[in-house]
Amino acid sequence: MRVVDLIRRKRDSQELSRDEIVALISGYTSGDIPDYQMSAFLMAAFVRGLNGAETAALTEAMLHSGQVLDFSDMSGRKVDKHSTGGVGDKTSIVIAPIVAAGGLRVPMISGRGLGHTGGTLDKLESIPGFNVNLSLAEFRRVLEECGCALIGQTAEIAPADKKIYALRDVTGTVENTSLICASIMSKKMAEGIDALVLDVKTGSGAFMKKEEDAARLAELMVETGKRMGKQVVALLTNMDQPLGRMAGNAMEIAESIEVLSGGGPEDLRELCLVLAAWMFFLGGRAKSVEEGKKLAAGLIASGRAKDKFREIVRLQGGDARVVDDPRRLPKAAHHVGIASPADGYVVATQCEQLGVACVVLGGGREKKEDAVDPGVGLEFHKRVGAAVHRGEPLCTIYFNSDARLDEARRLVETAYRIAPHPPAKLPVLVSRVIGA
Ligand code: URA
Repeated sequence: MRVVDLIRRKRDSQELSRDEIVALISGYTSGDIPDYQMSAFLMAAFVRGLNGAETAALTEAMLHSGQVLDFSDMSGRKVDKHSTGGVGDKTSIVIAPIVAAGGLRVPMISGRGLGHTGGTLDKLESIPGFNVNLSLAEFRRVLEECGCALIGQTAEIAPADKKIYALRDVTGTVENTSLICASIMSKKMAEGIDALVLDVKTGSGAFMKKEEDAARLAELMVETGKRMGKQVVALLTNMDQPLGRMAGNAMEIAESIEVLSGGGPEDLRELCLVLAAWMFFLGGRAKSVEEGKKLAAGLIASGRAKDKFREIVRLQGGDARVVDDPRRLPKAAHHVGIASPADGYVVATQCEQLGVACVVLGGGREKKEDAVDPGVGLEFHKRVGAAVHRGEPLCTIYFNSDARLDEARRLVETAYRIAPHPPAKLPVLVSRVIGA
């Protein structure tokens, strides 16, 4: 089998066999197939598409590129949630401690920023000392001790996704249903979980802009998970505007701590409670989603969720003092406000542009070897539907270098649509549940 022939066949819209896909993934994981050939294959798959059988083969090949963890000797059900990615989406950081505090185990394998979206690992690493690169033995120890551990793909777990994810991020091959399904499900099925809640984003800041594409991705992932014997549900959630008030690694950790402390923006808090509720329901800790929501809210109100976060940070080597004093987090040296150009209402945001602005400031990567600046980001002052006056701040940009400030500024300025009348319909946070 010559790799170039597989690339040419996919380029010409032909179906690849399961064995060919397995060979491609194992060759790339071992380093025998170079980045440039995998990039060409990814682009061919992106443009021509993969059918159901090819997607299943890719997911399984990526899953079996490493170990499949088994925590069946550990008490308690193991549940996780995963988001398809958005702007300001820090729900994992809030949910993981809530659910662990409620008695389930959360072995969470997360990703880094991808395209215009932020990544849980980059956010966690803004906590001084926080180690997302635990060995599997350490991962198990932390999970056993406190009920939750958050790490990235390792050389052992879905190593194919670790390499392919970094490549897709910089080759324009992210927004494809099959590639996203294989990436997410290969990681999640390797985690040794019983149940999974998927947060599938749709809207201008999501990879799947149209609700029908997001629903298709959700169905594909639910089907893949169920075929592998797991309980899986997917919630379709809105990403037409950033989630919460902050986007940027350290700024999002601070906002997550706000929610764990009983405050935080309403949309973020609500989505965290709903996702945690589904995890409690699937994990058998609540008889209904409603009961799960009450349990989650109670764990925040009692301080137990925040205590759990402190414990996780400490066990993963981070400075746990940030949990009570977020001012210890890295901060950008400068800020500048973006004012509304007119009186009126915010009728829409081009949310992806806001994510790109964060990347341009240094908060994400444009090349896979780029370092991420933890302190930079955006603070959003006005949500869709809000009334604004000319000159009133829409957003504040936090930056360290002004090298690309003008570009970031332009992106933010043109991301807001202001009109004389309020929008006819405000976005609904959770529009559908698939697989329940
Ligand atoms: N999140 C992932 O883990 N993978 C993708 O491809 C997209 C979002």
